[in-house]
Amino acid sequence: MSSINLAIVGVGKIVRDQHLPSIAKNPDFNLIATASRNGTIDGVQAFTTIEAMLDAVPEIDAVSLCMPPQYRYDAAHKALSAGKHVFMEKPPGATLSEVADLEKLAASKGLSLFASWHSRYAAAVEATKSFLASTEIKSVHVVWKEDVRQWHPNQDWIWQAGGLGVFDPGINALSIVTHILPKAIFLTSATLEFPENRDAPIAADLHFKNADNVPAHVEFDWRQTGKQSWDIFAETAAGQMVLAEGGSKLSVNGELKFEAPEEEYPSLYRRFAEIVKADESDVDLAPLRHVADAFMLGKRKFVEAFHD
Ligand code: NAP
Repeated sequence: MSSINLAIVGVGKIVRDQHLPSIAKNPDFNLIATASRNGTIDGVQAFTTIEAMLDAVPEIDAVSLCMPPQYRYDAAHKALSAGKHVFMEKPPGATLSEVADLEKLAASKGLSLFASWHSRYAAAVEATKSFLASTEIKSVHVVWKEDVRQWHPNQDWIWQAGGLGVFDPGINALSIVTHILPKAIFLTSATLEFPENRDAPIAADLHFKNADNVPAHVEFDWRQTGKQSWDIFAETAAGQMVLAEGGSKLSVNGELKFEAPEEEYPSLYRRFAEIVKADESDVDLAPLRHVADAFMLGKRKFVEAFHD
C-alpha cells in the first residue's frame, strides 16, 4: 500500500491538539475527509455523518475514531463493514464485549483494528519496562491526580455512564502499568467516589496485587488543584523508581535515568501504519478490563455534587 487515505470521525479537542499535527508529519497518511456533526478542518472535505462520508469518498482506506467512547462502536462497525482499517482513540469502547465484537469483525474482513493507548508511547515507558525487568519489585504506587475543571471543562459525556469519569485519565496510568510490569496484576479492593449528581466517579482508590502478592496501590482524583500528579512509583531491590510526568521521566534513587521529547501521537500513527502494512490488529484490553473490574468490585461512596 502506498500512502493511506485517512478520515477522521469526531473532530474535537484531541484531534486538534494531537492527531492533526501527527498526521501532517507522517508521510504514510493522507487526510482526505472528516465526519463530525459540528467540527471541520480547513481544506479537508467535511461530512456530518460517517455514513455520508463513507458513501461519498470510496478512496478512504482507514478511519480514526476520536469521538467519546460511548459512540465508538457504531462508527467502528460501520467503518469495518465498509472495508476500512480503524484507529480507535482510548478508551476503545464503552464495554469490553463491544470491543471483542469489533476485533472479530476486523479479523473476519482481514482489516486492522488499533486500540490505541497513547500513554504507552510516553518517552520513558520503554526504559522503565527494561529497568523493572532487571530488578525485583516490592511494591507499586500510582498517583494520577488532576484538576477536572482545567482538563475537561464542560465535557458532559465524560460524566455520563460509559464516559468513565476519573478513569478517563486514569486508564492512561493503567495502560502504562499493564505494559511495564513483568507480571499481571489484578484488583483486590476498590472505592469509587461519585458526585451525587453524576453517573461517573470523580475519584478512585484501587488496590491490586500480582500472583506473588506484590501490592500496587492506585489513586485517581479529579479534585487536585495546584501541582498536577501523573506519577508511578516502585520500591525495588535497586532502589526507588519514579516514572514521572505521565511517563516522560524515569528516575532511580533520585537520579534522572531517562528523558526524551514527547512523541506519543506521532508514535501512535507510526504504529497504525505498521499494523496496516502488516495486515495485523493491535487490541490489548487489559487497561479497560481493570476499569471494568473496578466498577464490578468497587465500593461506592457518594460525595458532594460536581458543577463545572
Ligand atoms: P471532545 O472534544 O469532547 O469530543 C470529540 C468530538 O466528538 C466532539 O468535538 C464532537 O464533535 C464529537 N462528539 C461529542 N459528543 C458526541 C456524540 N454524542 N455523538 C457523536 N459525536 C460526538 O473530546 P476529546 O477531548 O477530543 O476526547 C475524545 C476522545 O479522545 C475520548 O475518548 C478521550 O478519552 C480521548 N482523548 C482525549 C484527550 C484530551 O486531552 N482531550 C487525550 C487523549 C485521548 P461534533 O460535535 O463535531 O460531532
